[in-house]
Amino acid sequence: MTDKTPAPRIPLTPHTPHTPLTVLGAGAMGTALVRAWLAAGHPVTVWNRTPARAEALAAEGATVARTAAEAVSANRLVIVCLLDDASVGAALDGVDLTGRDLVNLTTGTPADGRTRAAWATARGARFLDGGIMAVPPMIGDTDSGGYVFYSGSSALFTEHRDTLAVPAGTRYVGEDPGFAALHDVALLSAMTGMFAGVSHAFALIRREDIAPGDFAPLLASWLTAMAPAVHLTAEQLERGDYSHGVVSNLAMQVAGNATLLRTAEEQGVSTELLTPYMGLMERWLAEGHGEEDGTGVVELLDVGRGGAGA
Ligand code: NDP
Repeated sequence: MTDKTPAPRIPLTPHTPHTPLTVLGAGAMGTALVRAWLAAGHPVTVWNRTPARAEALAAEGATVARTAAEAVSANRLVIVCLLDDASVGAALDGVDLTGRDLVNLTTGTPADGRTRAAWATARGARFLDGGIMAVPPMIGDTDSGGYVFYSGSSALFTEHRDTLAVPAGTRYVGEDPGFAALHDVALLSAMTGMFAGVSHAFALIRREDIAPGDFAPLLASWLTAMAPAVHLTAEQLERGDYSHGVVSNLAMQVAGNATLLRTAEEQGVSTELLTPYMGLMERWLAEGHGEEDGTGVVELLDVGRGGAGA
């Protein structure tokens, strides 16, 4: 080819209004994703290990591939949404990824994301990892508030941003392919703690003449009112000053914990969800931080820097 020879046209261009794409995985989430892209007019090729689940989508306009390799070869943009990282490895084992843009929406750890990115890059693909902050009914509903964290190739993200925005909002959190999973899991971990507290609260009222349905709105509005406290925690961490802006000091909080524990005993409720966190609060207090609030617990948890388990 001389300098004046036009570059060959790549048939799988991402610049068409409705980029064609492949989805590997027709589980609950994969199916919701496929439906969202089909509804928006994107040609979708889908593959699922158990063919029947993908075939159900053919009636809705998807092209069903018989193998993962066939599905991957059909389009440059390949979305993977399988159970876990091991299933991604199993599905793509031996599949030619050269020139593909691989977007992995399978939930994994940050290390999974980084390892999978190196694995994909070594096979000639660009890679973006994703963490879905939505459940399937929220997919394709722009008002649902659902979104996906993305990290990895910024070039891939920029090129496919409009297509990726079809099923849910997009939040790109950096080139490090582990960051999407880290943000995802950090939010899920906070949610887990919140649901632990919610379980304890319902257990406290359970045997009384208090309808859970009457109590639920109080619980929801209290949690909503308390949620902005995370901004003060962030400010204290960024300043490295955990006494900054304290409104409820730790000495008072630890004294209050005794009331929470006694109430649990009076109501016949196990304290097992409360005591690990309270133990850390007591330890930070014992180390002389009574005028701070609970932010020092973050430091105690940081095992790598000499925290609780070190
Ligand atoms: P499902 O259990 O409904 O589907 C799992 C999918 O993985 C199926 O397509 C299944 O294929 C496939 N699979 C499992 N093992 C293998 C394997 N070894 N090789 C090839 N394919 C395999 O799960 P979801 O669709 O709900 O979840 C998919 C991903 O989305 C998960 O990582 C999940 O954490 C994430 N996610 C899900 C949410 C939800 O609320 N559902 C919310 C946010 C994220 P087969 O049909 O053959 O079993």
